[in-house]
Amino acid sequence: MPVTPAFTGLASSEEAERRLLLMSEYEQTGSGWFWETDERGNILYLSQPMAEMFGKSPDMLAATPFLSLFVSEQTGDGASPRSLSLMFGGRKTFSGLTMRGDIDGEDHYWQLSGRPKFDAEGNFQGYRGHGGNVTESRRAENETERLAQFDSLTGLSNRHRMQRKVDAMLTAFRAAKRTCAVMLLDLDRFKQVNDTLGHKAGDELLKEVAQRIKRVFDTTCEIGRLGGDEFQVLIPDMDDRGQLGELATKVIAMLSQPFSLPEGRCTIGASVGIAIAPYDGVTREEVVHSADVALYAAKNGGRGQFRFFSKELQNESHLRRELERDLREALERGQLSLEYQPIVSIATNRIVAMEALLRWYHPERGKISPEIFIPIAEDSNLIVSIGEWVLRKACADAVNWPEDVRVCVNISEQQIITQGLSRTVANALSAAGLPADRLECELKESAHFGDGDVSERELRALRRMGVRLALDDFGTGASSLGYLRRAPFETIKIDPSFLRGAFEEGSRNGELIGAIVALADALGIETVAEGVEAMEEFRLVQAHGVKNIQGFVYSPSMALEEVEELLAGHEWEMTPTGPEKQRSERRKLYRRIHIIHEDHYYDVVLRDLSRTGAMIEGLLDVPVGTEFVVDFGEGQLAVAKVVRSHQDQQGLTFETPLVNDGAGGLCTRNRVSPYLLAAGGLPLAQLPPGHFPLVEKADNPMMLSVPRFGTKNLKAKLEY
Ligand code: C2E
Ligand code: MG
Ligand code: MG
Repeated sequence: MPVTPAFTGLASSEEAERRLLLMSEYEQTGSGWFWETDERGNILYLSQPMAEMFGKSPDMLAATPFLSLFVSEQTGDGASPRSLSLMFGGRKTFSGLTMRGDIDGEDHYWQLSGRPKFDAEGNFQGYRGHGGNVTESRRAENETERLAQFDSLTGLSNRHRMQRKVDAMLTAFRAAKRTCAVMLLDLDRFKQVNDTLGHKAGDELLKEVAQRIKRVFDTTCEIGRLGGDEFQVLIPDMDDRGQLGELATKVIAMLSQPFSLPEGRCTIGASVGIAIAPYDGVTREEVVHSADVALYAAKNGGRGQFRFFSKELQNESHLRRELERDLREALERGQLSLEYQPIVSIATNRIVAMEALLRWYHPERGKISPEIFIPIAEDSNLIVSIGEWVLRKACADAVNWPEDVRVCVNISEQQIITQGLSRTVANALSAAGLPADRLECELKESAHFGDGDVSERELRALRRMGVRLALDDFGTGASSLGYLRRAPFETIKIDPSFLRGAFEEGSRNGELIGAIVALADALGIETVAEGVEAMEEFRLVQAHGVKNIQGFVYSPSMALEEVEELLAGHEWEMTPTGPEKQRSERRKLYRRIHIIHEDHYYDVVLRDLSRTGAMIEGLLDVPVGTEFVVDFGEGQLAVAKVVRSHQDQQGLTFETPLVNDGAGGLCTRNRVSPYLLAAGGLPLAQLPPGHFPLVEKADNPMMLSVPRFGTKNLKAKLEY
């Protein structure tokens, strides 16, 4: 029986031809290809389809290095010509090696197998092998990986990737004693855009927001979207709160500029919380939690603000939760009431309107300012039911007033965008029997959007009923003057911030008031100056043609009984009285701080604080020129020099000026580094609350030196 060559391993020419045919059939399918090199790695053979991928014929590629077909940089995916050249160098057999090639700027991937060839004497002759195209599956894999790490909407890192980045940076930086900051950004009023302009607009907005954020931070920063309208920025080597505050201010300003979307124009804003490692936390959980607490405080502080983390904020957020809980019951328990503040015509001194101002008497905490509880009510949407009560009560009270006295009611944004405000107002009016034109709804400047949304419809409905609309806090929000022209307002209330500082040198506030009045007059809109306290302010607004005044010069808000007394006595006229000048803006402080001088720790009271200096009280006999370290608590130390000394009061100037803390206060640029404390023997941890713990000195177990200065036992008037 003839032995078939296939079984003997000796290929007959017929068999060899068959193999060649099969091979070329296989090559033509494109599912695989063959390659062969000489001992120097130059191509001896390459299947035609593979050569064609590179736009060449096999002949053209002959004698070029096989490795040159592939991209040579490290790709990070385990496939690189380095490993192929390693195989070649070691004359190893390999299989399943993924290689990347760049063809016209596009990535292609192949999986290669190869075996070294040797001649009969064992001399290396080159390689022979095959390959397959895995581009499609590889691209799909890359895409999945990208999706798993990046936010598909904005292209920024997603929560998952940010977590890994924060973890990696904190770990690496800890060893090198480096710092990094985590900034959390949350958009203000994003929900309203979604609700009023639709989700598509919301998505567009988020993309635009991502672009704006990217413009603020340099490329060393990692920016991510954690979900919804929350963004996170990781900033390496940054612990200067001056710089961080500037960055935060800049990003807030950028995001507060109007956005033009295909669906309409809208204005949002942003709040920012900042935590710095290792000061505010050592682990990711700690740092991110701290940034969260700071963000929460920033949002509650009235939005459009930033906050640095501090231990105090933690107590604050706890307090807010308690207040929110109590506020839910305050209405039923009759703890809420209204006071009324007159709005008086400058020309006639007659009361033209009364603004209803909500008051809350908390059974344990006493009087709580609307500045505190209104934002809580707004965040929890309690404002909708509270606001309805205010409307009903104010209308019912106002029916008893003279016919030419209006009642003004503050309306929060949530009330406007929750459909049905006009119905609520109509019900309140008819229940009380109050004519619609005696009610004025005050809307904050920040509460406005483009045309055609719910708020616009509700406002127009109110106008049709005859209810007047006032724009409150004019000059603090984002409305442009152009908006005023279109908007249906009868009144604008000029914010007190135009008065404060109006008498400082170089201030143009007076002219600004004049310009606002001129514009309002031209549009037939009435003006009210709010917060007029001093006579010089009274004359200023009078000189600029403001029509009405609401402020302490006429009267603070009063209880309904007092209003009824006015009513009984027909005293609808008031005379302006008040101090000649606005008292200095400097808030008098009574905060307890510490002074460190030559290892001695003194308890003093901080009476006055500015960027560059402070006034302290409580030390006696301190010579001018003495250097102190002021301990403001939470690791904030400032080197200061005594420049004035009078009895128990000293004026200090700081070596490094303080910076804005985002909450209207000041803080030190830098704090005592936890790395430094760790070097002194303490475990590396976030800064402890309270004042700087003096690290005990080994050579002085008593730690403190003999005090140099006398102290007066002050009954500190602590005012929170
Ligand atoms: P607003 O609507 O701008 O009200 C004017 C605020 O300025 C009132 O503060 C008033 O007491 C105060 N004020 C008036 N004249 C002077 C002055 O000469 N000097 C100073 N320093 N302040 C003056 P209040 O009552 O604490 O209310 C604060 C804010 O709370 C209000 O600002 C308003 O936005 C909000 N609010 C009050 N009641 C309500 C309400 O029923 N509903 C809603 N949504 N918000 C309310
Ligand atoms: Mg108001
Ligand atoms: Mg106001």
